[in-house]
Amino acid sequence: MGAMEVNLAKEAGFGLTTMLLHPRSRGRVRLRDGNPATPPLIQHELLGHPADVGELLEAMEEGRCIMAQNSIAQHLIRAFPAEALCATPEDWEKYLRGNATYGAHAVGTCRAGGDNAAVVDPDLRVRGVNNLRVVDASIMPTLPSGNTNAPTMMIAERGADLILKG
Ligand SMILES: Cc1cc2nc3c(=O)[nH]c(=O)nc-3n(C[C@H](O)[C@H](O)[C@H](O)COP(=O)(O)OP(=O)(O)OC[C@H]3O[C@@H](n4cnc5c(N)ncnc54)[C@H](O)[C@@H]3O)c2cc1C
Repeated sequence: MGAMEVNLAKEAGFGLTTMLLHPRSRGRVRLRDGNPATPPLIQHELLGHPADVGELLEAMEEGRCIMAQNSIAQHLIRAFPAEALCATPEDWEKYLRGNATYGAHAVGTCRAGGDNAAVVDPDLRVRGVNNLRVVDASIMPTLPSGNTNAPTMMIAERGADLILKG
């Protein structure tokens, strides 16, 4: 019992994650063919917009500054491995592109809106198709800053009301 607790204590620590809450990069979801059973073609285009890359690089630098402050640095047991690999801004961008990962908050593939490019109208009806609604995270016009499960439940509540109304 003691050994396990000691090991956990030695390994205890914290991490610092930089996160882009409002990415400008836009991906695509397209049909591969006319068969509804064929998986769609999904192109994420992550880090496809230069402003996203710039913001993440700035956030990483800010994070490194925070970690270098004495109040935190004195507790570090090893340096951030990227420090040894990256000397130039280009190195940091390469590191970012090689190590960034996405959050599991995919939304907006079926955007709701009043404009012609929206897939569903504000009452969640698929434009141009009778008697078909979409009621899930895909109708979000933009990505919320927070987690997406609760907003999806609110969309479901609203969608249920709309369906009951007819
Ligand atoms: C790994 C991970 C972690 C997450 N963590 C959090 C978190 O901590 N907090 C948070 O707020 N959000 C979190 N999310 C996001 C959240 O789960 C989603 O935003 C939310 O579930 C979206 O709801 P949805 O109804 O749009 O889609 P889903 O929850 O994906 O529901 C789609 C449903 O459709 C079903 N389905 C698919 N195809 C068919 C078909 N052909 N016929 C019938 N049924 C079908 C699927 O089985 C599924 O049940 C996380 C997501 C992931 C992937």
